[in-house]
Amino acid sequence: MLRRMLLAASESDRVRRLLVSAPLARGVVARYVAGEQAADGVAVAARLAASGLLVSLDHLGEDTSDAHQAAAVADEYTALLGLLSAQRLTQGGRAEVSVKPTAVGLGLAEHGEKTATEHIARICAAAREAGTTVTVDMEEHTHVDATLRIVRTLRDDHPDLGCVIQSQLRRSADDCADLATAGSRVRLCKGAYNAPPDVAFATRPEVDRSYARCLRMLMRGSGYPMIATHDPRLIEIAGAQAHLTGRGPGDFEYQMLYGIRPAEQQRLAGAGAQVRVYVPYGGDWYAYLVRRLAERPANVAFFARSLATRS
Ligand SMILES: Cc1cc2nc3c(=O)[nH]c(=O)nc-3n(C[C@H](O)[C@H](O)[C@H](O)COP(=O)(O)OP(=O)(O)OC[C@H]3O[C@@H](n4cnc5c(N)ncnc54)[C@H](O)[C@@H]3O)c2cc1C
Repeated sequence: MLRRMLLAASESDRVRRLLVSAPLARGVVARYVAGEQAADGVAVAARLAASGLLVSLDHLGEDTSDAHQAAAVADEYTALLGLLSAQRLTQGGRAEVSVKPTAVGLGLAEHGEKTATEHIARICAAAREAGTTVTVDMEEHTHVDATLRIVRTLRDDHPDLGCVIQSQLRRSADDCADLATAGSRVRLCKGAYNAPPDVAFATRPEVDRSYARCLRMLMRGSGYPMIATHDPRLIEIAGAQAHLTGRGPGDFEYQMLYGIRPAEQQRLAGAGAQVRVYVPYGGDWYAYLVRRLAERPANVAFFARSLATRS
């Protein structure tokens, strides 16, 4: 219930205006977001890489209805890849980038899918030049078909383009069966968006069981699974499945969000696993932050205090 309310708030302009002006919100933001500028994201990436972790950088922002803004986001990513490359962080794919299709135009009233495809192609070309990869984030369930079409189209030229499956969706086992092919980089997560019961599982145990099912399919397939979760039970199942299917540490990776379970990130990396941290940066942090609060009701106390002390 609280999760649904918070996810609805993530789409509300009124709540957005209230929260971004609240002084204590900054403290909560700093826990999950690297900073406002690309240089902040690169600095965090360098620190994480020095401690043995891999990184995927995300420029915050989504759902643009402005074609110029979509092009500016693609420019931001190509510039970011240049900065990462200059610091040799892209070598061997140590730092890659994650892109939201609606940030680069998928939701535009006209030619949205074509625009997003062209911008992501441009980002893929810059990533290839820098020696690294791109992963296309998954957003609301209404965008899944278009997002998977974009990935399929671009994989002709960029077979290492990653995509995301959300275990909360009822369709995801079928999508995993399609995607568990040679070289296919697939990030498996639970899903951070509201979706109606006809397309999504409604309870946590169902979402978790679906995750375990999808995980087994990806591990048994010939692609490259990226296990994006902080859930201790699913992390354990991933380790066991990797062992059962004969996958070594280089054949899959764990992924977690910046600021969440950092000790576990280090523990897994220390045990020889590949661990990639998803690091968001930028000024447009509101929707991302509220999705993180929705996952962890204990954090809502900070949220309430930040509103109460608003100047
Ligand atoms: C690398 C990465 C990329 C992602 N990309 C996408 C994407 O493209 N599309 C999408 O829909 N979703 C994405 N997600 C978000 C994902 O769908 C989940 O919403 C999120 O990971 C929380 O689910 P969980 O698997 O960690 O399990 P949960 O059951 O939510 O959490 C398990 C445990 O992790 C800890 N935890 C989880 N969240 C928090 C938090 N916010 N603060 C503190 N502790 C916490 C707690 O100990 C909790 O008990 C991504 C997640 C990761 C890690």
